[in-house]
Amino acid sequence: MKVLKFGGTSVGSVDSIRAVLEIIKKSHAANEQPVVVLSAMGGITNLLTKLAEEAAEGIDFAAGLSEMEARHFAVVKQLIAVKHQNPVFTKLKLYLNELEDLLQSILSLRELSSQSRDLILSYGERSSAFLISKIAEQYFPAACFVDATELIYTDSHFGSAQVNQPLSEQRIRSFVSENSDRLLFVTGFIASNEKGRVTTLGRGGSDYTAAIIGAALAAESIEIWTDVDGMLTADPRIVRKAFSLPLLSYTEAMELSYFGAKVIYPPTMIPAFLKKIPIVIRNTFNPDFAGTAIQHESGMTELPIKGISSISDISIINLSGGGMIGKAGFSGRLFTLLAREQINVVLITQSSSEHSITFAVHPGEALRAKRLIENEFELELQANKLLEPEIENQLSVLAIVGENMKQTPGMAGKLFHALGRNGINVRAIAQGSSEYNISVIIAKADLSKALNAVHDAFFAQLNKTLHVFNVGTGNIGSTLFKQIQAQHDFLLNHNDIEIKVVGISNSRKMLFNSEGIALEKWEEQLGESGEQADLPGFVERMKRMNLPNCVFIDNTASELPIPYYESIFNANISIVTCNKIANSGKYSQYKQLKDAARRHGVDFFYETNVGAGLPIVRVQKDLMLSGDRITRIEAILSGTISYIFNNFTGDASFHDVVKAAQEKGYTEPDPREDLRGTDFMRKMLILARDAGYPLEAADVDLGGILPEACLQAVSVADFYRELKAADAHFNALKDQAQRENKALRYIGKMEGGKVAIALEMVGEDHPFFTLSGSDNIISFTTERYKERPLVVKGPGAGAEVTAAGVFADLVNVGA
Ligand code: ADP
Ligand code: ASP
Ligand code: MG
Repeated sequence: MKVLKFGGTSVGSVDSIRAVLEIIKKSHAANEQPVVVLSAMGGITNLLTKLAEEAAEGIDFAAGLSEMEARHFAVVKQLIAVKHQNPVFTKLKLYLNELEDLLQSILSLRELSSQSRDLILSYGERSSAFLISKIAEQYFPAACFVDATELIYTDSHFGSAQVNQPLSEQRIRSFVSENSDRLLFVTGFIASNEKGRVTTLGRGGSDYTAAIIGAALAAESIEIWTDVDGMLTADPRIVRKAFSLPLLSYTEAMELSYFGAKVIYPPTMIPAFLKKIPIVIRNTFNPDFAGTAIQHESGMTELPIKGISSISDISIINLSGGGMIGKAGFSGRLFTLLAREQINVVLITQSSSEHSITFAVHPGEALRAKRLIENEFELELQANKLLEPEIENQLSVLAIVGENMKQTPGMAGKLFHALGRNGINVRAIAQGSSEYNISVIIAKADLSKALNAVHDAFFAQLNKTLHVFNVGTGNIGSTLFKQIQAQHDFLLNHNDIEIKVVGISNSRKMLFNSEGIALEKWEEQLGESGEQADLPGFVERMKRMNLPNCVFIDNTASELPIPYYESIFNANISIVTCNKIANSGKYSQYKQLKDAARRHGVDFFYETNVGAGLPIVRVQKDLMLSGDRITRIEAILSGTISYIFNNFTGDASFHDVVKAAQEKGYTEPDPREDLRGTDFMRKMLILARDAGYPLEAADVDLGGILPEACLQAVSVADFYRELKAADAHFNALKDQAQRENKALRYIGKMEGGKVAIALEMVGEDHPFFTLSGSDNIISFTTERYKERPLVVKGPGAGAEVTAAGVFADLVNVGA
């Protein structure tokens, strides 16, 4: 035989009850002789708790009771044939009347004991089990409602009573054998004490009822039917990428559920473990899926951990003081006290000096625990041997669980790396002595981020999600979105990287969506549902969303985002930027940003600051990281100037070449902005700084191209006039170069910590001689590349290649 337990989520609505009936029919047809255990309809236990608590405060419960009636009656009307409805209504009404009387007495007395609370809650399970047995009766005449207060006996610890296993088992066995021809529908969660008073087994306790019955009957298996595909690697409501685990050991399931995996109630594992009965967690709404089997051996040995669970609300109490040092029995006294007073200690850590003990309790019990301690240790407190206990609230516990952790070194390192990288501060750490779990206490506000980050870190065979916040939607930004969209599937399938653009802003509007903005229509969405742009607001929102693996992309050429960079790093968010302003401003700013990124373990990537998408910044960095020393750099890093000199041959005048370049859109509206060389200078400055030289812009010896008169001209038209007048000067340069079989090149050099940019003539033997079009070129002479320098050459401008460079930086974040 089998025990089939259906949780509140499975009996919450007409449709789900239909699905439950189908599962029972199948089991019956397969001759599995099921015993069915049922929870209250989803939400009813919470509703009853609320009504009871409110009644004790003098708040009326009539509306709540009507809600309960309506939910049950709706099911009767839809799932029971009209001619059979009356007796069902009558019995349900009877329960409701009893409930009303109970709530009325609580209201009058303004007092709610845990005993009366249990009695009130029992009506949830009774109503649903009775109702479902009646629905089932239409298909199985042998269907029979069983109130578990007749089967399961406990002590009088109302609210979470201890089961008298031998007595209950005996009773279950005899009851079932007396009713062997019947199909039993048993209430979960409830039991009774030696006086026959109703008790409950703790919230979620219907699972436990199923296990107690399964153990008593030596069932073939205990099936826990719920609304998810079994036990998942993390709470699916918080971690989207959580996946179902086919196999778990009892211990693993116990640890996961103890630390918050609500899908199964921890004590459930004990009777099953003792009798070696497998528990299977299955999905009522996906009945063909095998779900999770919990049994002796842990499966899926290739996984370092099985899951990550969490308790979202926890408080810690810190005890410290000299009186604790070397004092045998202190912690014994402390924890005996808490156990005696039924305060559940979730986790304990003690510093090795024994100077302090920190332990975690549920928030509702923290104050009581503090008072008890103050009482018990009054003398020690007076003598200052113990300091006043401190309570900290708004905390959560996160635990990683798995039997393989025992054999695998580095698990703790991985956990703390993932937390640290995401700026999550750990308040306390505990490792279970079994080594089946490591738990950490963190701020509640960080929980969701922490769970996702740790999940990504441990289940590396899954993809890593990068959450992108992008400012700037001009040429580069919009091209980047196209590229991300086009590469989405490839990255996911081949590199296990998923990129979600979760925030977009330009100077007019901004848009957020933590699930990812659909990039095929970002423009319409930003236009239609975007909010008014506000850069500080954008940055604030990005921090507040607190997503793991978060990247800020600055695709503007504006100064405005720069002041936020440091605070972004401080929030443990990486930055990718094509904006040169931050790195080419004051050296102190450059340094400060680099330091902030390093301090927080996040990335600051700006490959496109130099040579667009060409690998230059990264090559230099890799050379240095691998221990090489850069002795000299020579470069042409202005596509526009490069284009102009490459075309300044034959009969063309310099004036005409510049004019043509402008008409082709290769220059700024005022070509002097290119020809002054400042942009080139900034790139050289960044390379020099990356090479370790603390230079300022003024330290760069920037040789000019243009005669003074051209530079002084007031308008662009005046400039062209002056340029025409300077034709003789440029022709002389060109003729000299031709005579000497050389080419005119505007070249930046770095050597011995000095940077200079100047117009030069290079001969055929120089690697820059053959440069064509608007290409960039850079040659690194290093200790390794001494004889022949390392040369990088290619297109150094354009939206496509620049966006591709930003994209490459992005996928490297966190690598
Ligand atoms: P039932 O009413 O069937 O007893 P519960 O609400 O008690 O269902 O438990 C099922 C819920 O547990 C799921 O809907 C899921 O949101 C939550 N849950 C939390 N952690 C996990 C986990 N690790 N695996 C599966 N479910 C989990
Ligand atoms: N109905 C009870 C609760 O909500 C028991 C259960 O669902 O397992 O806690
Ligand atoms: Mg449950």
